[in-house]
Amino acid sequence: MGRTIGIDLGTTNSCIAFSDGGHPTVIQSKSGSRVMPSVVAFSAKGERLVGLVARRQAITNPRNTISSVKRLMGRRYSEVVDQVDTVSYEIVENTNGDAAVRVMDRVYTPPEVSAIILQKLKQTAEEFLGEEVTDVVITVPAYFNEVQREATKAAGKIAGLNVKRVLNEPTAAALAFLEPKGKTRIAVYDFGGGTFDISILQVVEGVFEVKATLGDTSLGGDDLDTQLVNWIMAEFLSDTGIDLNKDAIAPQRVREAAERAKCELSMAQETDINLPFIATGESGPVHLEIKITRKLFEELAGDLIRKTIPLCLDAVSDAGMKMEDLDHVVLVGGSTRIPMVQQLVEETFGRKPAQSVNPDEVVALGAAIESSVLTGQRKDLVLIDVTPLTLGVETLGGVMTPIIQRNSPVPTRNSRIFTTASDNQSVVGVHVAQGERDLIDGNRSLGTFELRGIKPAKRGEPRVEVTFEIDASGILNVSARDTSTGQKQSIKVNPSGGLSSDEIERLKKEAAANAEADRRRMKLVGLRNESDEAIYRATKTLKVAREELEKESWEELEAAVKELKKLRDGDDALILGKAISTLRSLTDSVAKLVAVFESDEEQAAAEFLESMTDGSEEETPEE
Ligand code: ADP
Ligand code: MG
Repeated sequence: MGRTIGIDLGTTNSCIAFSDGGHPTVIQSKSGSRVMPSVVAFSAKGERLVGLVARRQAITNPRNTISSVKRLMGRRYSEVVDQVDTVSYEIVENTNGDAAVRVMDRVYTPPEVSAIILQKLKQTAEEFLGEEVTDVVITVPAYFNEVQREATKAAGKIAGLNVKRVLNEPTAAALAFLEPKGKTRIAVYDFGGGTFDISILQVVEGVFEVKATLGDTSLGGDDLDTQLVNWIMAEFLSDTGIDLNKDAIAPQRVREAAERAKCELSMAQETDINLPFIATGESGPVHLEIKITRKLFEELAGDLIRKTIPLCLDAVSDAGMKMEDLDHVVLVGGSTRIPMVQQLVEETFGRKPAQSVNPDEVVALGAAIESSVLTGQRKDLVLIDVTPLTLGVETLGGVMTPIIQRNSPVPTRNSRIFTTASDNQSVVGVHVAQGERDLIDGNRSLGTFELRGIKPAKRGEPRVEVTFEIDASGILNVSARDTSTGQKQSIKVNPSGGLSSDEIERLKKEAAANAEADRRRMKLVGLRNESDEAIYRATKTLKVAREELEKESWEELEAAVKELKKLRDGDDALILGKAISTLRSLTDSVAKLVAVFESDEEQAAAEFLESMTDGSEEETPEE
């Protein structure tokens, strides 16, 4: 088995790490960056841009730049309608009711977009390690439901990766933070760009046990930005009468400035937002200049930040602990740099949060540690995770009947016996859902299936055993069995966050083809640069040759320059490569001829000079 890589596939930023002899190291890109923005963009020419380059061109190409796609992973369109106006790209409802994005008349599912990010990370890892990378551990927010986890796995498959484990982010953070010796209890408070998670873990002699996990998958730094953006837009409207929301580019500029201001306010008490030429009014261009204080930011964002606190209290009580039982509170995620967040955490947990880990890298490092556990490199750790949400089936009256309670350790399995509601009923429908509400409607539906061929009997007599099984990645399998006939039906719940395995295969091929196309494009870009350099050198040589040599010694070179200029923008790398080497060797031979000619000239000149100075060897110094 090759090396396994740990990937923190974040809403805002992603990070990769690998393990060597059980020690995790962050993988840097060629340009030395340790995290990559989780941004994908499509240029007008149909090129795909990923990471920093995609983020940099976001302002000028907002419609075709996709950020925070993780917020759409495994979601129904109806669940994300409130996000539609907060992003610059187009979120649409896919034919199956799932959320998707439309870019230049093509609909992409969230796993496809995530796969583009993963492909880039894979490539970075391969460049760094000098070997092919396929086996990975990918982290997800602990509070991700089944569908979101499956969607993440699907993304990995599309990118050509073998996802060995889907690991919860806080668990990963704990793996990287704690020594596996002794007994420790910690809270991991993870507030990133798109999600909030709180987990309580206990480690006893290398056994990492998640005791409880709670969270909110639609609460993150992005939402704090939205608060600021709305306020700025409203101020601007009341000052100038101009609604910036109507503009194509302004909202993206404001959002970017708001995020920057938010980050600055983590250090400073106040900051300025300056956006020249943001709009055009009746009397010419209008600029946006606004001062924002930390106090104002806290007023705008305070309610959202405070929403994390009751979740912390519940998680500790779910874990069967009191605040005093905890040994550490670890902060993860960029949004924990906000002073108000740190202060609230300190007040809630009654202790200063640990600052010893880098909140941007700790999750990827933990994922790499888990990968070394899976490959057997590390044997001193065992991980026991929990399922974040209750799983159950629908019973009479639309009631949610739990089969596996939230915060149950995984892997796990549990069965319950159900029966029929009417006489001679031969089919039972099994509707699987996930969530904490008593009625099925309030929870996330994971899928339905039917158990047919039940032996005719009075209502209430047949015994149908429904079994839920969750594997170590938190992926659910459900089966139903008629105990009298042995008739059995099972589903792997919602196979891949809305994608069938055929679709995944198709998308995988497409992604590989795209990677190939990207490689070809990069090669052509390189060859064009080489062409320019070769043409430049040839032209210089030609200029001298024209003055000093017969036409027959340079006319072939002249023709080759013309030829290469013609081929330069073509798409055939092979022909272009050949033309470049032809031109180079012609240039070399003409340059040699010129040199010979010049040295002959020099020789003649030297002889001439010698004859003038009467063979005297010393030059007369001149003043
Ligand atoms: P994710 O795990 O969701 O990818 P990160 O942990 O990278 O997210 O955190 C990204 C979020 O953190 C963004 O919303 C970003 O604006 C915010 N952030 C980063 N640095 C700071 C800072 N100094 N102050 C406030 N927020 C910050
Ligand atoms: Mg994160």
